[in-house]
Amino acid sequence: MKITDIKATTVTVPLAAPLRHANGCHWGRFVRTIVEVETDEGITGLGEMGGGGESAEAVFRAMKTYLVGRDPARLEEMRFLIANPTASLYNNRTQALAALEFACLDILGQQWGVPVSEILGGRLQDRVPFASYLFFRYPNPKDGSGETRTPDQLVAEARELKARYGFTSHKLKGGVFAPEYELECYHALASALAGDRFRFDPNAVWSTEQAIWFGQAIEDIRNDYLEDPVLGLSGMRRAREKLRMPLATNTVVVNFEQLAANILDPAVDVILLDTTFWGGIRPCVKAAGVCETFQLGVAVHSSGELGIQLATMLHLGAVIPNLSFAADAHYHHLVDDIIEGGKFEYEDGAIRVPTAPGLGVKLNRDKLAEYSELYQRLGSYPYDQDPLRPGWTPLVPNNRWADPADDRSPQIPF
Ligand SMILES: [Mg+2]
Repeated sequence: MKITDIKATTVTVPLAAPLRHANGCHWGRFVRTIVEVETDEGITGLGEMGGGGESAEAVFRAMKTYLVGRDPARLEEMRFLIANPTASLYNNRTQALAALEFACLDILGQQWGVPVSEILGGRLQDRVPFASYLFFRYPNPKDGSGETRTPDQLVAEARELKARYGFTSHKLKGGVFAPEYELECYHALASALAGDRFRFDPNAVWSTEQAIWFGQAIEDIRNDYLEDPVLGLSGMRRAREKLRMPLATNTVVVNFEQLAANILDPAVDVILLDTTFWGGIRPCVKAAGVCETFQLGVAVHSSGELGIQLATMLHLGAVIPNLSFAADAHYHHLVDDIIEGGKFEYEDGAIRVPTAPGLGVKLNRDKLAEYSELYQRLGSYPYDQDPLRPGWTPLVPNNRWADPADDRSPQIPF
């Protein structure tokens, strides 16, 4: 079998409400690039990458000169062909490689009549549990719904998600407001949902001393881990000396070199594997193997996925034996998806791993066209800007926090 064509289409899919984070905001939607790899046997594989637009589509157009005529089964060779580590000084194509790996695994699964999880070693579980992934949110610009700014709003949002989807692990994305205020919110959440498990992620915008203060103040909570409280392996190592809970990262251990450094001089206890950041599902499986050897914890990271990437997270979560935490997903914040059959459904806080051949998802062409047109109308948005604070630049460590009394609603295209 040979690759005959590669197509990339940028889409933007609305969220229920804009999601606030330490660097800015998801302005009410995600922008993603949907990749289709075609073959001479009529099988098409699907991939997905974060971000989009002309530059992202051009990256995949350029990959045609590398990959057309190649066998999609030669995945290890493809890594060196388009993301050779010595050439990556000039061409960082890790995320493009990931999208193409997803698509090639999808092709192979379809050709061999097996789900991708079977190619990766076989399912150890049929459903992958997920955490609720709570954000501070601006109101929906159209109808004013969905604001999450106060402890009461946060607790109400968490209760609603738990009732609707069955989550028993809750992740709060912080780094938006001063840590004292976010501590109040996190405590309110933990006492309202006593018996559940919790995790907090300020996206590494605290000083080491703030991280230690916050970490010591949440010891009474049943924490899965404290995620990226401070930037860098050295900062994490200093915080870890003073904290009595696991530290996790999706920021400073995102490749094998960093994983090795973390094993030789430990700074992080739990590695959040991201099928995009690591360059595919297979590198994540390999990294999980290293973590198993050294008894590091493993979880699945979310970088704002639609259904294709969610399928990669499900196949990953199904095959790694040391997945000891619920996975993260932004997915429940989306109002729609571009796959056939609509959005994946949660059952008791978990999502069933697809069992159809390949990734187990197909494109809904009408939805792809609808959200491609929406992207053409709205364009991209600055992920690292806050729509209500023009001119704001967050520092690391940050001290330019948002004001929790500010109840304005951003007027942004939606
Ligand atoms: Mg994180």
